[in-house]
Order: sequence, then structure tokens, then C-alpha cells
Amino acid sequence: MNFTETDEQVALRAAVADLGRKYGYAYFTRQARSGGRLTELWQEAGKLGFIGVNLPVEYGGGGAGLYELSIVLEELAAAGCGLLMMVVSPAICGTILARFGTPEQKQRWLPRIASGSAIMAFGITEPDAGSNSHKLTTVATRDGDTWVLSGRKIFISGVDEAEAVLIVGRTADTKTGKLRPALFAVPTDAPGFSFQPIDMDIVTPEKQYLLFLDEVRLPADALVGQEDAALLQLFAGLNPERIMASAMAVGSARYALDRAVSYVKERTVWSVPIGAHQGLAHPLAQVKIELELARLMMQKAAVLYDAGDDMAAGEAANMAKYAAAEASVRTVDQAIQSLGGSSMTSEFGLAAMLANVRTTRIAPVSREMILNFVAQHSLGLPKSY
Ligand SMILES: Cc1cc2nc3c(=O)[nH]c(=O)nc-3n(C[C@H](O)[C@H](O)[C@H](O)COP(=O)(O)OP(=O)(O)OC[C@H]3O[C@@H](n4cnc5c(N)ncnc54)[C@H](O)[C@@H]3O)c2cc1C
Repeated sequence: MNFTETDEQVALRAAVADLGRKYGYAYFTRQARSGGRLTELWQEAGKLGFIGVNLPVEYGGGGAGLYELSIVLEELAAAGCGLLMMVVSPAICGTILARFGTPEQKQRWLPRIASGSAIMAFGITEPDAGSNSHKLTTVATRDGDTWVLSGRKIFISGVDEAEAVLIVGRTADTKTGKLRPALFAVPTDAPGFSFQPIDMDIVTPEKQYLLFLDEVRLPADALVGQEDAALLQLFAGLNPERIMASAMAVGSARYALDRAVSYVKERTVWSVPIGAHQGLAHPLAQVKIELELARLMMQKAAVLYDAGDDMAAGEAANMAKYAAAEASVRTVDQAIQSLGGSSMTSEFGLAAMLANVRTTRIAPVSREMILNFVAQHSLGLPKSY
């Protein structure tokens, strides 16, 4: 066990933090409020090798692991400009393609996902299935050499920026007729594929979409990985998603805590800075501890994942996402309290940040579904649903 990061990891953290400072929260909120994107930051991060740091060297990546990818997202978020699509494109889609894609699929997608020149979104959530992925009704049927995919997806992030969406659908077992999950890389310009923005009340540059797949005809090689092992492949991508969602939440909370600490050191309304009052100092110290604990679980999950222990990484990734969501909500809320009325101004943007970190309690997997997982798998309790 080693809690000291390597020289390379320390250097990566510092280099990403430098890039983050160049853009910062003012850039993030300006783009979000004006309907813009984070394209300049995304492209620069891609050129510097940050977006694909976890992907294999032979496909243009950095050859490091998910630990390093989580460093990138945590540091960008800590600078106020986390890139949501990093949770999706290099972490979920890049990982699944690198581990289970055919050589042609890897060659087609990975170098461009790594450089940031192509973004792949990820679509699992459906309007009538929600947290119950056993109820997915997006179905692919074989027609000669092609697949025909039909269904609906909801809340899919960044489809407007993406060249393709990795869709979780289902195929019918030829013998039993039973539906089982399967993954398809669906180009966003495929005939029959359309998408519509959802009016969201959160201030983020990445938008969420409803997807309509109406008999989208795909070549045979749109199927990613094995038709009969998609569940395993899916989990290989969902653990990185949970670790990266934790990194984004922990980083954002670090940003808010830094703002709060600087503010309470300066602001004086009695005879001493308000940070001297334990009514403010102790809750800030408490959230600092909670944040470090969440970060530790996130790092444990990433190390387990990189060591190839998918089972142990699954439990740790769920716990990390739970802890990061709770700690980040409490941290941003306490930062708001520390700034008083100023916290509600657009200049500080903390009210908007609270809504963003609050989303981590719901997505990519809800707090309750994590508690269900821990109750059943870690504690061996019976299932209620
Ligand atoms: C900003 C944002 C971005 C997103 N991006 C993506 C994306 O890129 N791709 C994608 O596929 N999805 C995306 N999602 C969807 C997200 O993953 C889902 O919203 C999430 O999984 C919850 O599903 P739901 O909204 O249908 O809630 P529901 O499943 O309807 O759940 C509603 C509530 O009921 C609770 N609940 C449900 N079942 C149980 C149970 N058995 N026990 C206890 N409580 C239960 C849930 O925890 C939740 O609190 C995004 C969502 C948001 C808000």
C-alpha cells in the first residue's frame, strides 16, 4: 500500500492544474450561460495528451490508467472547469473499446477519442426503464449483414458534440428468444437517428438529449464486443464512469472549499475575520475531512480497477460515487453559507455549482441504487425489487 503519488502523477496533476487555471470557472459559467461549449479547453487538453491518458499507447493514448484519468478530471474540476464528457468518451467508451473492441474498431475510434478530436457519448437511460436497466426496450434485430436498432433514450449528455453514441440495446437470443444487453456504436448522423435537447435547470455547457432510434440500420461491426458477454463489458465501462463522476464531484467541491476558505480569511464583520469563528471554521474542517475520505475511496477504486480487479473495483467505485456525491453537496452548501449573500451572485457561481454537484446524487447511478448494491452485495441482505 502506498499513498504517495509517483513523480509522473504529481507532474500530471500540476500540468493539468496549470491548464485548468488558464480557463477556470469564469470560462465554464460564461460558456454554459451563453449556450456555448468547452471546445477550446477540450481540444487543448486533447493536444496535451490529457483526454486519452488512460488509453493504450498503440492507439494514441498515454498508456497510463484510470487513476491518471481521474487526476485529469479532478484537477480540471478543482480549477472550476471540469469536462463532463471525460466521464463518457475516454472513460466509458474508450475503456470498453480498448478492452473489448475488434482491432478495426480500436483503430477507428481510439486514436481520435484519445486526441479529443472525436467524442463518443453513452446512452443507457430510457424514459420507461430509468434505474431498472433490465427493462431496456431499445432492441437490435439482425437483418442479413446488418443490425436494425429501434428505441428511445433520455438524458444523454453531449450528443450534439458527439460523432457517435455507444448505445446499450438488447438483442434476442436466437435459441431462447430472451433479450440480453448488447452495445452498439451508433453514428449521430445515421439515418433514423435523431435527438432533441431537454430543457434542464442546471448551468452546464454539456446539454442532455432525448434520442429517437427509428429503425437505424447499422453494419455488423457496429456491435462492440461480444453479443453474449455484453453485461461484463458494460460493467467494465460503468466502473470507470462512477470513478470519474467521483473525480468531477471531488474536484468541484475542492474548488468551492478553496473559494470559501479564501473568503472567510479576508471577510471581517466583527473584529476578526469570519473564519476565526468556530461556527464557520468547524463545518469547513468537517467537509474537508469528508472530502478527503471520499477522495481516498475514489483513489482506491481507481487503483483496484487499474490492477484488473473488476469485482473489488465495482464495490469501491459505488462507495466512492456515494461518498463523493454526499461530500461534494455538503461542501458546496457550506461554502455557500460561508460567503453569505455573495454566494448567490453570478460572480461566485456557487448556487449553480450546488445544483451541478447535487446531480451526482442521481447520475450516473442514484444514491439509492448504490445503497441497494451495498446492502445486497456487501452485506448479503435480500433484494426488495
Ligand atoms: C445531468 C444528467 C446527465 C445525464 N447523462 C446521462 C448520459 O450521458 N447517459 C445516460 O445513459 N444517462 C444519463 N443520465 C441519466 C441518469 O443516469 C439517470 O437519471 C439515473 O440513472 C436515474 O434514473 P431516472 O432519472 O430514470 O430515475 P428513476 O429510476 O426514475 O428513479 C427516481 C428515484 O427513485 C429511486 N429508485 C428507483 N428505484 C429504486 C429502488 N429499487 N430502490 C430505492 N430507490 C429507487 C432512485 O434512486 C431515484 O431517487 C443523466 C442524468 C442527468 C441528470
